[in-house]
Amino acid sequence: TSLFANVEQAPRDPILGLNEQFNADARTTKVNLGVGVYFNDEGRIPLLKAVRNAEVARLEAASARGYLPIDGITGYNQAVQKLLFTESSPLIAEKRLVTAQALGGTGALKIGADYLKRLLPNAKVAISDPSWENHRALFENAGFEVVNYSYYNAATHGIDPEGMLASLNSYPAGTIVVLHACCHNPTGVDLSAEQWAKVVDVIKARGLVPFLDIAYQGFGDGIDADAFAVRQFAASGLSFLVSSSFSKSFSLYGERVGALTIVTANSDETGKVLSQLKRVIRTNYSNPPTHGGTVVATILNTPTLRLEWEDELAEMRDRIRAMRTALVEKLKARGVQRDFSFVLAQRGMFSYSGLTSAQVDALREKHGVYAIGTGRICVAALNNQNIDAVVDAIADVLK
Ligand code: PMP
Repeated sequence: TSLFANVEQAPRDPILGLNEQFNADARTTKVNLGVGVYFNDEGRIPLLKAVRNAEVARLEAASARGYLPIDGITGYNQAVQKLLFTESSPLIAEKRLVTAQALGGTGALKIGADYLKRLLPNAKVAISDPSWENHRALFENAGFEVVNYSYYNAATHGIDPEGMLASLNSYPAGTIVVLHACCHNPTGVDLSAEQWAKVVDVIKARGLVPFLDIAYQGFGDGIDADAFAVRQFAASGLSFLVSSSFSKSFSLYGERVGALTIVTANSDETGKVLSQLKRVIRTNYSNPPTHGGTVVATILNTPTLRLEWEDELAEMRDRIRAMRTALVEKLKARGVQRDFSFVLAQRGMFSYSGLTSAQVDALREKHGVYAIGTGRICVAALNNQNIDAVVDAIADVLK
């Protein structure tokens, strides 16, 4: 018999499955709010001008494509550290940071998970309930048992702060806690400054291991405001990990640009941890690709490009927030009784809309408006052309 005769069909990715269904839908009025991608007001994935300019410069330089170091481009890694912690951070001066360029945020989580498995083979990993759908699978694949900590309160469309602290307080020392640093995916609901302070305290008191995932820096309130949690942990003196993704903030999804940063206690640890992390990378994919990292490093390290990028990032952020406002106001103007103002308090690309799975089905079947069964919609896929149709559809399924 064939080697693969008994292989079972793996379940298909629910979000990609929804995309396939969307593509096959013949209705011209269809709207896809199921995706996790930022679209501009014309409904297209933007190619940022800063990216274009950095790419032109790279082409003109006609540089050879040798292997990068295992941990990637030095100027890139340093720029990542400044973006996370600011240029004047004592962590940089004290050489307490290990940063490795990674294959997107997912790649950063993966090398972080593999490294932690060597360091803490018996630890459990706690992720938020709910979380980005790949967190659980990724850490399970790295060999960890994954549990959920309380996070979202559907009744208030907000955080369940007591539940979250109770979960964290129940874990043994050494438990790895994955935290969304900003723009929580899928809910859009972030912790307040006071809530972060309490979370940091509990994590410190219980000896837990924070792993911050920052995939939307600059999409919430701004580059620095969105790094608030990262900087709170830095100020706490704890050792922790951070996975950065630039897929959204540079609109470079397919180039796979991200980074893993590990905060150590001192420069001696830094050297040793880097040497171990390099072993993990070497045995996974040897070294990262050149293009995306070069483009991002060029932008971050060239003042004119940097300003151009910050403007374009602000434009994306402002457009998402304008769509949140428009959605809430138009639903109200349309006579929808339910109060959707919680959507304004959410941050980033997503919103847990509060729509039930039956309502999501009706949106899709009757109106060609595609959302995730949990009620998650991508606000960054709304635009001035499709928002009225979406509002009408929501109003109809809520009748
Ligand atoms: N973490 C979170 C919270 C995400 O939402 C995503 C994907 N959008 C990622 C990580 C992965 O990012 P990337 O596409 O850069 O791998």
